[in-house]
Amino acid sequence: MKLYEKFPLKVQNSLGKKLEKFETIHPGRVGMYVCGPTVYSDVHLGNVRTFMSFDVVYRYLTFLGYKVRYVRNITDVGHLVDDIDEGEDKIAKRAKLENLEPMEIVQKYTNGFHDVMRDFNILPPSIEPTATGHIVEQIQMIQSILDKGLAYEVNGSVYFDVEKYNENEPYGELSGRKIDELQSNSRELDGQSDKRSPLDFALWKKASPEHIMRWPSPWSDGFPGWHLECSVMSSKYLGDQFDIHGGGMDLKFPHHECEIAQCKASHDKEPVKYWLHGNMLTVNGTKMSKSLGNSFLPHELFSGDHEVLDKGYSPMSVRFFMLQTHYSSTLDFSNEALQAAEKGFKKLTGMVNAAGKLNHPGGAAQDESKDEEFKALSEQLFEHMGSDFNTPKTIATLFEIGGWINSYANGQADIRNISETTWNEVRNLFLAIIRDVLGLSDESSSDDSGAMDAAMDVLIQLRNQARQDKDWALSDEIRDRLKEAGIVLKDGKEGTSYTLED
Ligand code: AMP
Ligand code: ZN
Repeated sequence: MKLYEKFPLKVQNSLGKKLEKFETIHPGRVGMYVCGPTVYSDVHLGNVRTFMSFDVVYRYLTFLGYKVRYVRNITDVGHLVDDIDEGEDKIAKRAKLENLEPMEIVQKYTNGFHDVMRDFNILPPSIEPTATGHIVEQIQMIQSILDKGLAYEVNGSVYFDVEKYNENEPYGELSGRKIDELQSNSRELDGQSDKRSPLDFALWKKASPEHIMRWPSPWSDGFPGWHLECSVMSSKYLGDQFDIHGGGMDLKFPHHECEIAQCKASHDKEPVKYWLHGNMLTVNGTKMSKSLGNSFLPHELFSGDHEVLDKGYSPMSVRFFMLQTHYSSTLDFSNEALQAAEKGFKKLTGMVNAAGKLNHPGGAAQDESKDEEFKALSEQLFEHMGSDFNTPKTIATLFEIGGWINSYANGQADIRNISETTWNEVRNLFLAIIRDVLGLSDESSSDDSGAMDAAMDVLIQLRNQARQDKDWALSDEIRDRLKEAGIVLKDGKEGTSYTLED
């Protein structure tokens, strides 16, 4: 019996806004698509949160025994700078700025994105298709929408006819918008646009002479519209109907709404069974965003080298920090919360180590009720994860189990109260949920950082002593020689910490 048969899963479907029983289209298999990054700049910590949320979804489904095909795209055709289908291409703009070819920009930031995903132990998807690799399929989908009479061509560009589509299919269902409200709230077209209505969106744009990223098509030399690639690549790899589509909340409208419209127009089917949306990482209540200037990059977070950071934090402390909040709630960044998470993660790591070292002497349970209680606690892990991937509640239960483990390890309680079988099962589940489902790897065991921390503590103490003794020559020498070795000391309110230079 597969775990998914034993432990049912409920997910909060944005389409219909309901908590629904998760039932796959094909037995035992899950098709899942998540909108990937636009690779024209470094991913910031907000982006990381969304990819981490869906990493846990992917990991848990896999853990339950589903065969998951996870597709996460790379947007390497630049969206236009203002998202109303006008303006400059973001990738081309960046290419000019950095004096590189657009495809060099794409490669550079794709590599950077992969590095960051690895830092945070976010698993690679099963397929990572690129928009530029699927131009032919995008042209085919545009043609099929034109053939249905739901798009129109003007001066070499093709637009989706939202009002026409809305005659038969409700546009705005996912984001809870009504077409008449959208119409009254939309800006008037300024006469420059070829669109018939401001609600229409581009499927194909004719390229201006200076536009570098361009492809031939039946309508013009140009490039595909923003929303099209996800409709094309999801249906190509997962079929016209698939189980899960994910992305950040900010993509619900217009991006996901347009994806639904394109797919329905082209395939006459509801494309996605469950829409899941991750909520935003905020700073003082405002969405972290590159354009607002309140974002910081993962390596700044690791080194502590940013004005809003008191010190550096390890990737796993940050992962723990993020998973302590449910993916559908906003999460506000603060130094205090990160420091608390750092402590919490250290405590959990201690419990993991204790669990790894402790063996049961063998035999049946001496106290049946304790045995039952311990088992019931471990089943709660499935209940919480099965309740729309509730990681904060899962972590709370892990700490409860960890408390039992600690008391067995330090002799405050007798491990023989529970049976050997129960101990082994619960311990293995405890470790698997932490490592395989939450993806929290033990940073101290994967390298020599434990020994390194200890050695650095000694050096930092020696330097503090030298400073107290006003032996500035010695304290400077310690700092400078560490710097030569690529280790940077940072003096903050919480004391001195160190980071390794890239
Ligand atoms: P982009 O490269 O801008 O398309 O963003 C990639 C992903 O990051 C999308 O799913 C966005 O919804 C998500 N995202 C952007 N900003 C934030 C944020 N502050 N918090 C969480 N997710 C975000
Ligand atoms: Zn998308």
